Amino acid sequence: MSDINSTNPRTLGRGICIITGASKGFGQALAYQVSRSLEPRSVLLLVARSGPLLQEMKEELQSATEEQQLVVHCVAVDLRTKEGVDETVRVARQEAVDEIEHVLLINNAASLGDIAKFETFTNPDEVNSYLSLNVSSPLALTAGILKLCPCRLGLRWSVVNLSSMFALQALPSWVLYCTAKAARNMMFSVLAKEQQHVKVLSYSPGPMDTDMQKEILRLTNVNHNPMPCHESAAKLMKLLLDNNFSSGAHLDFFDV
Ligand code: NAP
Repeated sequence: MSDINSTNPRTLGRGICIITGASKGFGQALAYQVSRSLEPRSVLLLVARSGPLLQEMKEELQSATEEQQLVVHCVAVDLRTKEGVDETVRVARQEAVDEIEHVLLINNAASLGDIAKFETFTNPDEVNSYLSLNVSSPLALTAGILKLCPCRLGLRWSVVNLSSMFALQALPSWVLYCTAKAARNMMFSVLAKEQQHVKVLSYSPGPMDTDMQKEILRLTNVNHNPMPCHESAAKLMKLLLDNNFSSGAHLDFFDV
């Protein structure tokens, strides 16, 4: 097992990096930045439903990082389903070779859900459908990848949970989103306590100019002055490269 606090200021090592929700928004911006910090013959799994967008990204990424010979897989799946999670683990299994030095799993995919008063949510099927993407899928996917890549000498393990200030702060009419982000925060805190070889970070990225933020503006008429995704992605990259946060920490863009 490698020291979970080990640092190499230049790279993330020869890694297998899995990014969910990589087709647009923050996940896309992060994929570009991560790819530049991976060592040659690293593997990148881009996961989302939109296959053509992922394919386009793969081509751009590979031409921008030609000398690194990255192996990029597009995994076009719906993470609300068991098939979607299983397929992501299956593709990762093909690439989880002994030479891999770093497993980096970024649980980024999420949805906003309905912003509505508490008494709206009388249908458990609607609630379950929301929770399947936002809570169940990061748990099942992380569990699947953990099983695939058990702790061994020389292997660094990192898991990032894309969180929100609403994991910690209750907001009227945001019961779905707040509940899911709070559950994820606890889920990854448990992981940090349980698996001492895994470095876990819940990162709250701040308001970013994405489709989700546009949807918030449309539904609430509140402008959060979003920033470009690459600014927040750069801060997360620095946290990962410096690697001196405490495992299980919940860190906010504005505080780091
Ligand atoms: P976004 O623009 O809505 O993108 C969401 C990503 O998730 C897309 O790539 C989408 O791709 C994927 N996705 C959605 N449903 C999926 C499904 N069923 N299966 C597989 N993939 C699915 O979101 P974002 O704004 O970039 O947010 C990224 C993360 O940051 C989220 O966890 C969000 O909660 C968090 N966050 C965002 C903000 C913000 O201001 N934007 C603020 C705080 C926290 P497909 O549609 O192709 O599947």
